[in-house]
Amino acid sequence: MTGINLYPVPQIPSSSLPKYSLVIPIYNEESNIRELYRRLNRISEQLDGVIEIIFVDDGSRDRSLQLIRDLHKIDSRVCYLSFARNFGHQIAVTAGLNFVRGQAIIVLDGDLQDPPELIPDLIDEWEAGYDLVYAQRSKRRRENPVKRLFAYLFYRLLKCLAEVEIPLDTGDFCLMDREVVNVLNAIPERNRYLRGLRAWVGFSQTKITFERHPRFAGDVKYTFGKSFSLAIDGLVSFSKIPLRLATYLGLLAAFIALIMACLVLYWRIVAPASPLTGFATILIAIFFLGAVQLVSIGILGEYIGRIYEEVKGRPLYILSEMAGFEKSLAPESETTSETTQIQPDS
Ligand code: UDP
Ligand code: MG
Repeated sequence: MTGINLYPVPQIPSSSLPKYSLVIPIYNEESNIRELYRRLNRISEQLDGVIEIIFVDDGSRDRSLQLIRDLHKIDSRVCYLSFARNFGHQIAVTAGLNFVRGQAIIVLDGDLQDPPELIPDLIDEWEAGYDLVYAQRSKRRRENPVKRLFAYLFYRLLKCLAEVEIPLDTGDFCLMDREVVNVLNAIPERNRYLRGLRAWVGFSQTKITFERHPRFAGDVKYTFGKSFSLAIDGLVSFSKIPLRLATYLGLLAAFIALIMACLVLYWRIVAPASPLTGFATILIAIFFLGAVQLVSIGILGEYIGRIYEEVKGRPLYILSEMAGFEKSLAPESETTSETTQIQPDS
């Protein structure tokens, strides 16, 4: 587990482990949970192995947690983790990954924008030998055009700047082999930009494309601020180019200053009626330099802030409730003689 290990993952005999684990972050999705469960249930009938459905309640304030508890009571495949407060989508997925027990792990959103009906296609690619299958959005239907434009530009900027090849237009909807998840869980980095980390770990990767539909119900939970901060996280975690940008800006400012100095000297000596007189010129120069300095300090701040977060070593999330992980998912007869032990995660 990442960070301080507060939550030991219950160990159960490997013969009783599920084959597929679904990780679903949930933040105020009361109007989607039942429909999501209904569709997952239908899909699970087509699969060749037992599934576990891990809901990660990211500090919801509506009835989401209650609905998840109810599902857990009627279906032992439903497990859940509940955060003590809202820690954010990436941390919710991270927590789910810390607890999965299956061989193939599928991450999908709780608002049905990542259609569960694609799960068999993801599994087909996994069975063909790929360790990581991500779903790329070919179209985003009826989403906010401003958000779409920003997402379009951001993914392309990230592609230019990032040190690893992060696929364009992909969210967190993907299937990962157990081996990939083990590596992700072992990465101690606290700034979890999962689609970047997922690309960084390597392994054999492939994609399937899909049309992203609008949410089934409810409002978008990724506010503009949250999306922006996720974008900055992605850029800062996977590129050092912004740091170099500060140097380049400084060099540009120095170059402009040198040209200006030469011009002033020239005008003073050769053409005394200098066009460079008055406050306006001085003010522009001051503002320009001030802007360069502030932007550079801001960029440095982004990196230093992340170092500070890493050094503090706080746990990534605090759980207030969890259920379903101590249970085996195999038929009763196979497991009655086995003891379920709880051991600390390594
Ligand atoms: N989500 C979360 N914590 C948050 C924000 C969102 O767990 O702080 C969940 C949300 O419930 C949904 C998924 O993350 O299952 C994606 O959120 P949303 O649909 O708002 O984002 P978008 O699809 O617009 O990127
Ligand atoms: Mg969504």
